[in-house]
Amino acid sequence: MNARDIEQPAPPASSPPGPTTFVEPETGSYFVSTYPPFSTWTAAEIPAVHEWLNAPPAEPLDAPLGLYVHIPFCARRCDYCYYLSYADKTADDRTAYVACLLDELAIYRDASALAGRTPTFVYFGGGTPSLLDEHQLAALLAGVQARFSWHRVREATFECAPKSVTSAKLRLLRDAGVTRISLGVQQLDDDVLRANGRVHLVRDALRAYDAIRSVGFDVVNVDLIAGLLGQTEASFRVGLDRVIALRPESVTIYLLEVPHNTPLYRRWHADAASVELVEWDRKRAWLADGFARLEAAGYTVRSAYAAVMDPPRRRFVYQDEQYRGADLLGVGASAFSYLGGVHVQNMAALDEHAACVRAGRLPLARARRLTFDERLIREFVLQLKLGTADVPYFDRKFGVDIRTRFAGPLIELQQAGALTVTDSAVRVTRPGLLRIDTLLKAFYRPEHRAVRYT
Ligand code: SF4
Repeated sequence: MNARDIEQPAPPASSPPGPTTFVEPETGSYFVSTYPPFSTWTAAEIPAVHEWLNAPPAEPLDAPLGLYVHIPFCARRCDYCYYLSYADKTADDRTAYVACLLDELAIYRDASALAGRTPTFVYFGGGTPSLLDEHQLAALLAGVQARFSWHRVREATFECAPKSVTSAKLRLLRDAGVTRISLGVQQLDDDVLRANGRVHLVRDALRAYDAIRSVGFDVVNVDLIAGLLGQTEASFRVGLDRVIALRPESVTIYLLEVPHNTPLYRRWHADAASVELVEWDRKRAWLADGFARLEAAGYTVRSAYAAVMDPPRRRFVYQDEQYRGADLLGVGASAFSYLGGVHVQNMAALDEHAACVRAGRLPLARARRLTFDERLIREFVLQLKLGTADVPYFDRKFGVDIRTRFAGPLIELQQAGALTVTDSAVRVTRPGLLRIDTLLKAFYRPEHRAVRYT
């Protein structure tokens, strides 16, 4: 629903490779969530996952490990949505799915590579995880914790959509150890919410926020989108100011994309004149203005899309650890994992996913074992999305001086004003951060610059 960091963007194959000249077409998707591009992952590389899982633990037992749990159900499909989510499933379907998730997790628990390892961060994303009822939630949380102890968990995030939030569910989450709620508000304007097919209205979002605050969580993140249909600069600004007045610890502002597999794209394709999309430069200007308003209100910009209060206390562990190469174990339909330097994605169809798990097999669809250089590039480009890549960090971990390894694009992007390079770090400037996803391809290996991303 709002975990863009695990989603799949879909830039067209024709995207030019130049680092500073790329201008996005109106439609398509440009968000970079990992490297190498998804289109290079194949079923032929799935054995690399099994090889890693069946070997003795390669990492120290206390190495960071994340757990991602995908809940692919929503009350209704939003017009711009391209996440894997089903709006036509029954309560029984959801109960069966939770049981299946837990069986999948048990297969991982029994893998020798994970023996003795426990998660340090957990993320429940979707879809709409808060759509599960109390019984399903209780079974899910207890089942996950029975398979992987949470005694080392520093952060557990749960995505919520406003209409499905209840105080009883929130208490259940808090008592189980969830520390961070991410609420998909998107915009505080009923006309805009309706125009984009959202199922909630402003009053639902405010009620949900109050309930979350009353129950009490360490961090509440509010997700917003700039560039929704019917949104104006003024309405975006009013909505953001209302959110700031609520004082969530974190505010994330995504820029609307129109991937080619969405209802919104199909409407635009059938009759472009009837769908007024906001141009990329305007969306970026709104984001720049949004960051300025957040900073004036005491927030600190912590990434290309998010601002937080009190950053040292409000790390987003899920993102920070992944961007530094932590293992991530993902379960559920279409979920992504990153295990021992191997990317892997699950099957997307619920019946295929369930059939595999019932047969005692992992429901893997495609994988990609990264080379040493690809692991370096992956961490480098992802850390640039946080604004800084530290020279000593890469020197220690990879034995590589990033200023030399990426000298060509660094010089070009520095001259373009997108970043600065010092002895200690590569730092992205604010103009660079606002268009970071269009710049990262400059650091890809040549064979990945012109391929489809998904
Ligand atoms: S809430 Fe909307 S955008 Fe989020 S996953 Fe569901 S349908 Fe997609």
